[in-house]
Amino acid sequence: MELFENTAVELSRLLRTKEVSAVDVVRSFLERIELLDPHLKAFIIRTPDMAFNTAKEVDNRRIRGEEMHPLAGVPVAIKDNISTLDLPTTCASRILENYIPPYDATVIAALKNVGMPFLGKTNMDEFAMGSSTENSAFFPTCNPWDLSRVPGGSSGGSAAAVSAAMAPLALGSDTGGSIRQPASFCGVTGLRPTYGRVSRYGLVAFASSLDQVGTITLTALDSALLLSLIAGYDPLDSTSLPGSEFDYTDDLEPDIKNLRVGLIKQHLSADFDQEVTDAVLKAASILEEYGAEVQEVSLPLTDYGLGAYYLIAPSEASSNLGRYDGVRYGYAVNGENIEDMFSRTRGEGFGPEVKRRIMIGTYALSAGYYDAYYLQAMKVRTLIRNDYKALFNDFDILLGAASPTPAFKIGEKTDDPLQMYLSDICNITDSLAGLPSLAVLSGIHSSGLPMGMQLTASPMQEIMLLKTANFFEKSRDFSPLRPVLEFSEGG
Ligand code: GLN
Repeated sequence: MELFENTAVELSRLLRTKEVSAVDVVRSFLERIELLDPHLKAFIIRTPDMAFNTAKEVDNRRIRGEEMHPLAGVPVAIKDNISTLDLPTTCASRILENYIPPYDATVIAALKNVGMPFLGKTNMDEFAMGSSTENSAFFPTCNPWDLSRVPGGSSGGSAAAVSAAMAPLALGSDTGGSIRQPASFCGVTGLRPTYGRVSRYGLVAFASSLDQVGTITLTALDSALLLSLIAGYDPLDSTSLPGSEFDYTDDLEPDIKNLRVGLIKQHLSADFDQEVTDAVLKAASILEEYGAEVQEVSLPLTDYGLGAYYLIAPSEASSNLGRYDGVRYGYAVNGENIEDMFSRTRGEGFGPEVKRRIMIGTYALSAGYYDAYYLQAMKVRTLIRNDYKALFNDFDILLGAASPTPAFKIGEKTDDPLQMYLSDICNITDSLAGLPSLAVLSGIHSSGLPMGMQLTASPMQEIMLLKTANFFEKSRDFSPLRPVLEFSEGG
């Protein structure tokens, strides 16, 4: 078995028992990246020197007998909207193409602090707006299971990297599905934590009331390990939740018996791919078999959630993206006067989807329309929160699909933004409610592509999600878990 094939938990064990060095581990992943990434294009930049330097330092500290964190020496890939000191952070946008942050995001500082080598920054939809990674200003990323298909988005680079064993772990961000949908398209485990559980300080803002940093990993145990490191109160993020320090790896033994599971009716829609819904139903029956109580539940506002999200997120984006004016950050084009300069800078710097969002958002917030659009959307958001609250009086966990279909073809939805938006229908409502939600493999479609299911819990109950996902991973009766990728040396 090659080193790059291991889970993070296994790598951590191999490192602690000194069976391998951190330099060996880093080398294995970097070679894998060199071989595969020319085909998959998951990385915007690779950082081999930095990775080796961190690995060497970790090895030296271990030789000196220092006490190390379990993730010391375990490499990680980082979505390119998370600020990294002295390393480009482009958000896959021309406007930030040459931007190098003067500080680390809080989550980055946490990874550095324990000695996790950084493999590089991963591709994404521009400013995390999209569901396929095709909105990257640089290039699209391919799905490792089928190179003619998208990896999902917006954290498509991170999901493809973990799926293809180019990284054992990755950080992503999820505003309205950007971790869970790509995780499901690539057959890996994606966790969006409770809003406020992980610091947003240094995550480039898209829609601040929804944005959340989370994990993309091969297993629930790996996710637990990484989440324990990045979760916690941060005074630098005003929406950070107090007292959220927690060791999620304490006890992940699944206790399915008497678990109260709500099966979301709207995720069994006839509009969804039949095999996707069958896989969700099968998961429900496995839970029942092990003693869970499963009941169908309704989230009647699912459709309205999509409309509300696509008003709220663009509204916040239109305000957050005001800062890219050519004066303070990155790309700048000269003009006849200051207004002309702003307009040229933004006209050339932003791609079409970002411009579309800014226009929708500006419209929804403008005088005369605010009440009809933004305010209405916020009311729908409150109703959705209330619906979840009521459901969690009776249920521990909600089960549904992570996406209506498996991965679609590159180019299939690029001309139809509405179709693209619809691919997030399963992920939007829990985002609006700020709930923790996780996507995990539910089966393999007859096309050979992975399919995902989604588990959602009440605030701060990530442990429920991780335990249930761990249970499914243990009971899995299908293989392979990894895509088959055969490329010759040198591409
Ligand atoms: N696909 C959704 C959008 O385009 C969600 C993106 C995200 O979660 N960042 O807004």
